[in-house]
Amino acid sequence: MAALTDILHPISVARRVMEKTPHVMLVGEGAQQFAVQQGFERQKLLTPEAEKAWRDWLKTENYAPQINAERRGRPGDKDNHDTIGMLAIDESGQMAGACTTSGMAWKMHGRVGDSPIIGAGLYVDNDVGAATASGVGEEMIRNAASFLVVELMRQGHSPAEACQEAIQRVVRKRPEASRTLQVCFLAMNRSGEIGAYALHRGFVYAICDSKKQDALLDSPSVYTSTQV
Ligand code: ASP
Repeated sequence: MAALTDILHPISVARRVMEKTPHVMLVGEGAQQFAVQQGFERQKLLTPEAEKAWRDWLKTENYAPQINAERRGRPGDKDNHDTIGMLAIDESGQMAGACTTSGMAWKMHGRVGDSPIIGAGLYVDNDVGAATASGVGEEMIRNAASFLVVELMRQGHSPAEACQEAIQRVVRKRPEASRTLQVCFLAMNRSGEIGAYALHRGFVYAICDSKKQDALLDSPSVYTSTQV
């Protein structure tokens, strides 16, 4: 589901596409038409605050993704992204995943990020495990990154190792760019083991399980300095 406007919860529409149509992705006007047919309400979602932020941005028109900037200890920088990726496994071993975002702030009209693309922002294979991503989506698309993490787990890597190797792949392919942009992976295998890795510090993830563990954890990262 991409470029869907005026619907509050695109992730619920995406689930309907999966469950009720022969397709895997609808975009733009067709996606909205389908959502309305399915009973979702069209709403104006632009808030006065968001409109003001956009008008302020028009003064510079500078596209500069800021991901985990505040947690990276860069107080002058405000985060301008919002992806949430979720991975789940039930007691019978059935896995599920979801990834939702409104993408990078100030992106070009028509830009699609990694989050809706199977294998980029999310990949789930019940035989092996699941992975999801956050960060500058172009890097995930270039590397089929969530698919890569799952395939690395298939080859025997733990979720943490698979995430780390996928991050190293991003660094090897684009060493210069990787110093400034953020990329983060979260993975879980069929045994319920969890791992995460990021390019830069600041990526956090939460674990919730039947033992009532409810923890917010810092992901390890390649770069730990606040300067990059
Ligand atoms: N991955 C998202 C995108 O590129 C941004 C984010 O992680 O917040 O659209």
